[in-house]
Amino acid sequence: RSTLAERDPDVAAMIGGELERQRDGIELIASENMVSQAVLEAQGSVLTNKYAEGYPGRRYYGGCAEVDKVETLAIERAKALFGAGFANVQPHSGANANQEAFMALVSPGDTILGMSLAAGGHLTHGAAPNYSGKWFRAVQYGVRREDGLLDYEEMERLARAEKPKLIVAGGSAYPRVIDFARFRAIADEVGAYLMVDMAHFAGLVAAGLYPSPLPYADIVTSTTHKTLRGPRGGLILTNDADLAKKINSAVFPGLQGGPLMHVIAAKAVAFGEALQPEFRAYQEAVAANARTLAETLVSRGFDIVTGGTDSHLLLVDLRPKKVTGRAAERSLERAGITANKNAVPFDPEKPAITSGIRLGSPAATARGFGPAEFRETGLMIDEVLTALAERGEDGCAEVEAAVHHKVKALCARFPIYR
Ligand code: PLP
Repeated sequence: RSTLAERDPDVAAMIGGELERQRDGIELIASENMVSQAVLEAQGSVLTNKYAEGYPGRRYYGGCAEVDKVETLAIERAKALFGAGFANVQPHSGANANQEAFMALVSPGDTILGMSLAAGGHLTHGAAPNYSGKWFRAVQYGVRREDGLLDYEEMERLARAEKPKLIVAGGSAYPRVIDFARFRAIADEVGAYLMVDMAHFAGLVAAGLYPSPLPYADIVTSTTHKTLRGPRGGLILTNDADLAKKINSAVFPGLQGGPLMHVIAAKAVAFGEALQPEFRAYQEAVAANARTLAETLVSRGFDIVTGGTDSHLLLVDLRPKKVTGRAAERSLERAGITANKNAVPFDPEKPAITSGIRLGSPAATARGFGPAEFRETGLMIDEVLTALAERGEDGCAEVEAAVHHKVKALCARFPIYR
């Protein structure tokens, strides 16, 4: 029995370096979070050794008594959390969950209608380089030029004209509440299925702070590692018994082999945590902190797409500040603040450059940041990006270093993974 540090000091040092990065920096990537020690422990368990193709009670391998209990618990907790009649907890990721939902609902060549990547949708909702754009006839709706809000009229017009078999709602950079009832109405009118990908806001849905798509969608997909604060992975829900069978077949044997039982155990732990009253308080803080960050940036002259946020994320249009998303991401990283460059709607810059950054509150909120810390963070973002705009990338090293110092001091007050 030797530790990782003895066995493989190289990998141990890399993991240690990443732990230090997470400890000392402010994490604002909207799709990330910091899981509990309990989730980490379940994921790092001996369940990684186990093959369990199939489903609880119907496996293609022996020795599944314990993992059957684990998967059943994960399923039951997911159903309770979201008020769903059925859950499949095996998808390895959000992208896999979406592909599996597609396999249950549509066939190659069918028309699908999803939100475009450029407007804040996800690659798997029909973007050209993704299988969803290659295997299906993908039609895409976007947001309105005047206010950045989802263009429901365009979506409805496209649905009537193109007669998709599947309409997809949800996205990766859309900060506002989505009107699921309106999606349901047009899906019914044109005879389409409705799938909602709630990957980003699933934690808020679980806490009752964002409308649940379950009453409206035929299938709901999600990741488990964003606002939901579980291990990296996917989840599929439905209330339709026929679709439930199709989903199970699509996941296994359709697209996956053996489930990752250690990850499923960690999902069970995370769903259990999300069922506790403290989870609602956490999600309330996530939403309040995102609003505080948006208000702070607005007070410093930043332009927030749609003017604010109803969720955990905000999209900052940097054009008025005369810096690009790429330069901002790099400069903030040198100052100890991690965020990602992101296209803003109708972005004139290339996807590798962009005019925006996407910011999110889940990870820093998980370590205990409140409104005061998010306000301080917003002011530090302004300090760095103002210096970047005024002095250029080569001239703002001093400001980046000074802010990095403040970031470390702030993070030291909110220690993680002691
Ligand atoms: N769906 C949405 C809306 C997402 O934002 C993401 C991740 O960015 C995914 C799906 C894909 O999840 P994963 O990275 O786990 O494949």
